[in-house]
Amino acid sequence: MRYAIICDVHSNLEALEAVLAEIKNHRVDRVVHLGDAVGYNANPNECIEILMNENIPSIMGNHDAAACGLDDPQMFNYAAKQAIRWTREKLTPKHHEYLGSLPETLILDETILLAHGSPGSRDNYLLDWKHSMAEFAIMAELSIKICFFGHSHLPSLFVHQGRDHDLQNYAKHTLDKSNSYLVNFGALGQPRDGDPRACFGIFDSDEMTVEFIRLEYDVLKAAKKVEKAGLEIYLSERLLEGV
Ligand code: ZN
Repeated sequence: MRYAIICDVHSNLEALEAVLAEIKNHRVDRVVHLGDAVGYNANPNECIEILMNENIPSIMGNHDAAACGLDDPQMFNYAAKQAIRWTREKLTPKHHEYLGSLPETLILDETILLAHGSPGSRDNYLLDWKHSMAEFAIMAELSIKICFFGHSHLPSLFVHQGRDHDLQNYAKHTLDKSNSYLVNFGALGQPRDGDPRACFGIFDSDEMTVEFIRLEYDVLKAAKKVEKAGLEIYLSERLLEGV
């Protein structure tokens, strides 16, 4: 099976449309989403509508939980909190209900876990190999070999055993079936590694490869919409800079 994996759409319609169009060139069998359909940007209902219409299996991110009232955005920074309040006002009942119905995690082929923050927690920021050790232990208990995650918005590939614990040359990697991996393809709707291009990835479970892909899209249009919506100007600026 070939999977396209997207994460952290964050109400960015321009990035979502561009990435889904690009995915059509990659001969995938399924597209999956690792959570945070909403928050930060200006098109929450439109993005959810696309995820629903395209039958893209999704899990619940921390912004999704806050936007539909299942969680309190108390720990969010000021701009993120304001965007959640704005999103709550904009969400239609149908799209609100969709967010509330999302599962915490999904499992593919028995050994592949889809999580938002980390295998152990939706809210965990998994930033380096040292932090990943406890998560690899949780994966071993669940007989999970590969976990795809998001939340940090930083492309990452952590390897359980071996010399290169943090792989930072984000291109195409062949995975070793006897090893375990934590893979973050980066954020589709709000990249934070200094590159504003949208992120997504391809996982081929037959070839055991992961491919990190970046895509230019109309970021200026998305940023202008954020301003026009009355959201914090910082959210528009960070989109343009990819931070
Ligand atoms: Zn996010």
